[in-house]
Amino acid sequence: MSSKMLKFVTTDKKMPDKRGAEARVQDFDEIYDEFDVTAAEDQAGRCSQCGVPFCQINCPLHNNIPDWLMLTAEGRMEEAYRLSAQTNNMPEICGRICPQDRLCEGSCVIEKGFESVTIGAVEKHITETAFENGWVQPPQPVAERPESVGIIGAGPAGLAAADMLRQRGYQVTVYDRYDRVGGLLIYGIPGFKLEKHVVQRRHDLLADGGVTFRMNVDIGVDISFAEIREAHDAVLVATGVYKARDINAPGVGMEGIVPALDYLTASNRKSLGDAVPDFDSGTLDARGRDVVVIGGGDTAMDCVRTAIRQEAKSVTCLYRRDRANMPGSQREVANAEEEGVVFKWLSAPQAFLGDNHVRAVQAQKIHLGQPDATGRQVPQIIEDSSHDIPADLVIKALGFDPEDLPTMFGAPELSVSKWGTLDIDWRTMMTSLPGVFAAGDIVRGASLVVWGVRDGRDAAASIDSYIMAQSDAPQAAAGV
Ligand code: FAD
Ligand code: SF4
Ligand code: SF4
Repeated sequence: MSSKMLKFVTTDKKMPDKRGAEARVQDFDEIYDEFDVTAAEDQAGRCSQCGVPFCQINCPLHNNIPDWLMLTAEGRMEEAYRLSAQTNNMPEICGRICPQDRLCEGSCVIEKGFESVTIGAVEKHITETAFENGWVQPPQPVAERPESVGIIGAGPAGLAAADMLRQRGYQVTVYDRYDRVGGLLIYGIPGFKLEKHVVQRRHDLLADGGVTFRMNVDIGVDISFAEIREAHDAVLVATGVYKARDINAPGVGMEGIVPALDYLTASNRKSLGDAVPDFDSGTLDARGRDVVVIGGGDTAMDCVRTAIRQEAKSVTCLYRRDRANMPGSQREVANAEEEGVVFKWLSAPQAFLGDNHVRAVQAQKIHLGQPDATGRQVPQIIEDSSHDIPADLVIKALGFDPEDLPTMFGAPELSVSKWGTLDIDWRTMMTSLPGVFAAGDIVRGASLVVWGVRDGRDAAASIDSYIMAQSDAPQAAAGV
């Protein structure tokens, strides 16, 4: 084994420097700096090169983590990049925003009593070094193929598939109803987790590699799904999930109560320099407001931290379970607390108070009861625990469901699960319609970027096999 490894005994875990809370809430820039070369080599060198690397097993992409850590520790950065790029189409993005504490780093078994290797930060460092050195190139097909693939959705699942298919020489067109490429990477996730130029850089690479992007086209409205199927040899549906879950409580329809994604999109658009009337009018701007965010997932964490940056008067997060049982990343909760967010655990909204405009959330305290069939403790309301929290902006961040795709696409034969996600054959990623594949959140329900990338890659491989089988058929017949 390289003498550069196994340094966990002498070298402590160190994350890249994080900007102080006071400074970072002044802008929407990322809060973590990057490792310099020495820090990256030192931190990568802490890996003990496990014979059974649980980090790799629990990375949805099965990234070859031990090997690229070793190459980094030895300063062999171009090799580290090539290896990392073999399994991930956007390592610099996953390195920034994967919930590593629940995935690779959470499974790092360096040695009892020692903290995990900082895998995500090293992954980001590898690809940023590659960008600086010009090693990251657009997809370059060895040979062009005549067949075309239409991809609906320019989020991580669609982009990963586009990259893989273009590398194989297919003519790829990506359709999206947004005006910018990236899906939730561009309009959902705030800049303090993922700066937008990082997403735009991936868009530019794909466009330079010959992927065609048709933006501002809503499939099912501007172009029919049937036309898309007609125009391409195969179609990938990677449309994500966008129907916001609502709260069933009196007063929820009042002004000042807004869905999380409307709020985050307005903020992201503002940062990108767009005109955003609903922001300028104050409807979606938290400045000077008492803000209450309802929910405990990644979206809720992004809303509270956005509101802090917009100079809200106060920001409170209301979540019906406790800290240990929240779905959001613990790292993001800690960041939010440092930035001044107040968490009210075990609290749920009972009603919204006000005349036309909300002025307070009436909340109730919750007790966690016995686990249900899913193993999660069931929240139970504590009688006579009502209390009011002042609020003139309430943000609902309770999660997302799929839109009704069979109706939107005029394709009733498109089979969906009881949750509305697309049914696929997991061996092929094909839906109930021949030649129509699906990937990402529209299949899994609201999930993670890294799973979108994984699905996009798997779908691309299946689409390749499907098209090859179709085009092989006449040749085989001719040969008989
Ligand atoms: P999306 O990213 O949603 O992309 C779907 C695309 O399809 C969109 O661009 C949409 O405009 C387009 N589209 C939809 N319907 C049509 C149509 N009819 N015609 C044309 N185009 C259409 N994950 C993480 O791993 N880490 C995080 O920190 C994280 N933070 C998040 C924060 C927020 C606020 C949210 C909402 C999600 C977060 N996620 C995070 C989850 C992650 O963003 C998603 O799991 C991921 O983006 C899903 O990728 P996707 O390609 O399936 O869909
Ligand atoms: Fe970890 Fe995500 Fe990178 Fe996999 S893709 S190694 S889970 S940060
Ligand atoms: Fe290295 Fe940790 Fe992975 Fe083991 S689990 S190979 S120590 S990163």
